Amino acid sequence: MIDEASIKGNIAELLERIRTCAQESGRSPHSVKLMAVSKTRPASAIRAALAGGLSDIGENYIQEARAKQEELSSEAICWHCIGPIQSNKSRTVAEHFDWVHTVDRLKLAKRLSQQRPPELPPLNICLQVNIDREPQKAGVAPEQLAELAEAVSSLPNLRLRGLMAIPAARSELAEQRAVFAEVRQCFEQLAKQHTYMDTLSMGMSRDFPAAIAEGATIVRIGTEIFGARD
Ligand SMILES: *Cc1c(COP(=O)(O)O)cnc(C)c1O
Repeated sequence: MIDEASIKGNIAELLERIRTCAQESGRSPHSVKLMAVSKTRPASAIRAALAGGLSDIGENYIQEARAKQEELSSEAICWHCIGPIQSNKSRTVAEHFDWVHTVDRLKLAKRLSQQRPPELPPLNICLQVNIDREPQKAGVAPEQLAELAEAVSSLPNLRLRGLMAIPAARSELAEQRAVFAEVRQCFEQLAKQHTYMDTLSMGMSRDFPAAIAEGATIVRIGTEIFGARD
């Protein structure tokens, strides 16, 4: 298994690459946040990421995340849910996460709003857009975004922050940029109505430089921090 020193080294290297990418696009390095995606990794790997200076942690599987949250309850962590959410898991998410990046239907948003404990701040929400219109993939179609955003923005215990996308893999930088540019255009269209929106969650290990060039404010990275998953 990967050791703490390697994880910290990977993070330092990534932060430097993110800084360079941002500067090359004329953006402030502080405008891009690095989220460590820790699905399938033990709590000790998350501890190493914290030691490396990160505090935003992304998890895909709710039960797995809960176990790590219990183990790390004394740490200051901003928890992001980045996996699909079945309706029967919405309460756990509403109670134990700070962000949800995978809202793609109103029914889920309503449940999250109803189930968000009143003593907690509003749950931060990104709408997941299925930008490549892949039939098997989660996310709302681009032409349905406006309606969903309108409805979600009126729910009391949620704060609509922006969009999330997982484009299909493309090998060329120009192709990666083209699809991220489409996501940005969706965002800009919505932001005319929802001027408070500030988040574009896009870019993974394989394509984060292209995402940053097209305006990503959160990149979600697992492999480049923790090594390949089994
Ligand atoms: C696993 C995952 C990531 C990170 O992927 P890597 O290729 O390991 O960087 C990012 N976003 C989502 C939604 C994921 O499921």
